[in-house]
Amino acid sequence: MCENARKSAGLPELLDRSSRIAIVSHARPDGDAVGSSLAALSYLESRGKNATVLLPDAVPQSLKFLEGSSSVLVFSDNPAGVCSVLSSCDLLLCLDCGSFSRLEAMGPAAQASGAAKVVIDHHPSPDAASFDLVIGETEISSASELLYQVLMGLPDVAGDSSRLPLACRTALLAGMTSDTNNFNNSVWPSTFAMASDLVASGVDRDYVLEKMYSSWRENRIRAMSAILSEDLEITPEGAAFFVIWQERWDAFGLQEGELEGLVNIPLGIDKVRLSVSVRECGDVFRLSLRSKRGVSSRELAIRSFHGGGHEQASGGKIFVGQDVASRSEVPDYVRRALREFLGGASK
Ligand code: 5GP
Ligand code: MN
Repeated sequence: MCENARKSAGLPELLDRSSRIAIVSHARPDGDAVGSSLAALSYLESRGKNATVLLPDAVPQSLKFLEGSSSVLVFSDNPAGVCSVLSSCDLLLCLDCGSFSRLEAMGPAAQASGAAKVVIDHHPSPDAASFDLVIGETEISSASELLYQVLMGLPDVAGDSSRLPLACRTALLAGMTSDTNNFNNSVWPSTFAMASDLVASGVDRDYVLEKMYSSWRENRIRAMSAILSEDLEITPEGAAFFVIWQERWDAFGLQEGELEGLVNIPLGIDKVRLSVSVRECGDVFRLSLRSKRGVSSRELAIRSFHGGGHEQASGGKIFVGQDVASRSEVPDYVRRALREFLGGASK
């Protein structure tokens, strides 16, 4: 039995005795959040469970090809529907985030649920006090890969992935592909083993790649081009950053998730060690940070941007009225944080 299957001791019994299961993940869900949630949904439904995926925000367009995405209840659209499931479920599975605070507005209702709570996550430091069972691992690509290992360890699957529904296996491959940026980062030998097993079992990887990477609206590419040519700044310390102002967002009629991956592009420049995308959302600016090996974007997110995440991929926020007096001060705030971080002793 692999170590992660061992950590999930207790899960088979919890699943056996639960009939109404809520699956939750973080705000502005990415491919790993959606992939792991819909994989869990597919598996649980195949076992005859009444399971529902509850997300704080809508599933991005590029992930709507995954089976079950149209059944997701979205808190920002239907808070009463989500709260009703949370108050009546007997098991809550929290995937790809280790704390209810990352569910943002949906967090308090999830925390208040009387259900048994299980977290399956790959971020450092899950909030163990909020859960009855913590299945956590950081030396792994994604929550989807961790869920794959957990499912493979269940008695009814017994290491044979062909016993999982095809929709479940497809969602697991999509989630892992998204969090590794299609095998670019956070890849371990176990990640290739999982991919190999899933493809051998019949998952159509070409279909997944086409939907995730080759089905965008033209606007995405036009907006990315404008931001990279007009807004990208490269600092003398080897950091790249750009602010996506609301005016830019509106001018291109962008949708949530449509600029996914943009922050990775400046890392392709040899002298750039850290890349930061800063998106204006009302009085909050949301940051996505990516770094090359040897630079901890997680440390910078914690130190300067009220955030966290992984060593090479993290996120955070700048609050107008708290961190800066007005929106126009945001670029300077970021510039200073980058200079202090990359110029300082700790990398
Ligand atoms: P992204 O840039 O794709 O939104 O996030 C990159 C990584 O950082 C993801 O693993 C995400 O879960 C994590 N992350 C993003 N924002 C936050 C935050 O505010 N706090 C923490 N702890 N992690 C975050
Ligand atoms: Mn993830």
